[in-house]
Amino acid sequence: MTRHLLSAIFTAALLMTSAAAFAASDKQSAPPGSFDGAPAQYTRFTATELTRGFLALAFGSDLSIGAKSKGVRRFTHDIRARVVSTGSVNRKTAVEKIIAEYAVAVPNLRLRLAQGDDEADITVRLIDEGDFANAIESAFGRETARAFVEKTDAQCMTSVRSDRDGEIAHSISFVIVDQGDDVFLDCAYHELLHAFGLSNHDDKNPWTMLNQERQVGYLTVYDRSLLTILYDPRIEPGLTHAQARRLLPKLIHDLGLADGGHRAPHDGALGGNRR
Ligand SMILES: [Zn+2]
Repeated sequence: MTRHLLSAIFTAALLMTSAAAFAASDKQSAPPGSFDGAPAQYTRFTATELTRGFLALAFGSDLSIGAKSKGVRRFTHDIRARVVSTGSVNRKTAVEKIIAEYAVAVPNLRLRLAQGDDEADITVRLIDEGDFANAIESAFGRETARAFVEKTDAQCMTSVRSDRDGEIAHSISFVIVDQGDDVFLDCAYHELLHAFGLSNHDDKNPWTMLNQERQVGYLTVYDRSLLTILYDPRIEPGLTHAQARRLLPKLIHDLGLADGGHRAPHDGALGGNRR
C-alpha cells in the first residue's frame, strides 16, 4: 500500500517534471525559403521557457573584446546595417532580405540598411570559408583570432563592441557563403542575433538557433520572442541578471509572448489564466 502510494507520487512528480520541460507546443514545419531538411519549430512557449532562454542568451559571451559588460547589451538608437560581400558566391541580397525580415519581425529594433556613405552600426561581411581565419585575424589581431578559433572552432562569428553601460556601439559579423545554403542561412540568422545583443549560446536549449548543436537557418518564433523582449524599452542596457529576472514575468505577459505561462500539467484550458 505504502509502496503503491509512493510509486504514484513518484509517477506524478515525473509527469509534472516532463510537462514543465516540454510545454512548448504547436509544432510547425520550417517556413518557405528554409534549406532542405531545416528543423520544424514549436511556436508556443511558456513564460518559464522564454525566461530561461533570455537569461541564458542575453548575458555572457564566448568572445569578449574590449570593455566587458556584465549586464544586458543592446542598441539604443536606430541601427543601420551594411552587408559587404567578398566571397565567391554573392549572397548580399539574401542577407539584406534577412535584415529586412528582422526589422519587420521586431519593430523596436529600428533596423534598416545603411545608405550611401552612412556609417554602419552592424557590418555583415560575407566571405569564403577558406578566408575565415585571415578575416578575423585582420579584424581582431592574431592573438584574439587564435584564441577564438581554438576555443570555439567556429565557422562564423560576431564581435560586439559595447560601452561600459552595455550600449552596443558596433557589431561585426562574418558569415560563410561558399559552403551551401544550410551553412549560409544558419550563420546569417544566428550571427545577426548575436549582433543585436543575444551574445551567448545555450547548447541545452532545444528551441533557439543559438544552440550550437542545432542548424536552423530561419528566424524562429522562439528567438523572435527573445529579441522582442531584449528590445522592449524596459530592458535597458546594463540591466543585471537579477533585475531582468524580476522584470521578465510582467514584461512577457504584457507583450503577450507566452502561451499558458502558468499552465498546470493537466490543465485542459490552455491560456486560461490570460486576460
Ligand atoms: Zn554563435
